[in-house]
Amino acid sequence: MVELASLNSVSIITIDGPSASGKGTVAQKVASRLGFHYLDSGALYRLVALAALNSSTLLDAETDIARIAATLDVSFEGEKIVMSGIDVTEAIRQERIGTAASKISALSQVRQALTERQQAYAQAPGLVADGRDMGSVIFPMAKTKIFLTASAEVRAERRYKQLIGKGISANLHDILRDIRDRDVRDSARSIAPLQQHADSVLLDTSHMTIEEAVNFVVKVFETSEPKTVN
Ligand code: C5P
Repeated sequence: MVELASLNSVSIITIDGPSASGKGTVAQKVASRLGFHYLDSGALYRLVALAALNSSTLLDAETDIARIAATLDVSFEGEKIVMSGIDVTEAIRQERIGTAASKISALSQVRQALTERQQAYAQAPGLVADGRDMGSVIFPMAKTKIFLTASAEVRAERRYKQLIGKGISANLHDILRDIRDRDVRDSARSIAPLQQHADSVLLDTSHMTIEEAVNFVVKVFETSEPKTVN
């Protein structure tokens, strides 16, 4: 068990928000500007989903999927993500893996199995963690908590351009429908639902550049008071 109080001495910034909001890009840039570590918690859920699909495990087999989550053999090597010796960087970004990740992330034993793995990323001098429950559940002591969002239409358009840019064919209408479905599933689940908490700062990037969003987060961090938990 990681003692939450032991994380009080590390500067933590959490960036939670919906799918395709650009929080990953913003979080990575904030981390590199401040020289902090970076945790992409969504990647962990995607890895568990990929491993479950690869082993033909049913996506509602809670105990089996929690076991997969607890024993995941994964390493983050810069931009590259390697699972059981295989480069899965691209594979986990597929829409079908995102959808499967959203399903398995509603299982409480799976979330439990990933909790300590995520908390272990809180190392000096600091951490920027992005996800859905970083500020509410995993790092309640975080000094700075951001809820980063953008309208579903803007997010769909960003995801569409990203896919087309990579030479992957995409349909804007389908992407928008998937994003809306995923928002409903992530917000309506009973454990760790996606929602803005009272102690987080809202950042709507619908009409902002990445640079403006990064500057905003760094400024909030520099002016936040440290928090502690017992
Ligand atoms: O952020 P990303 O789209 O990569 O996350 C994939 C899925 O993993 C999300 O739809 C969400 O259901 C789940 N997730 C979560 N908690 C997190 C991060 C991601 O439930 N902290």
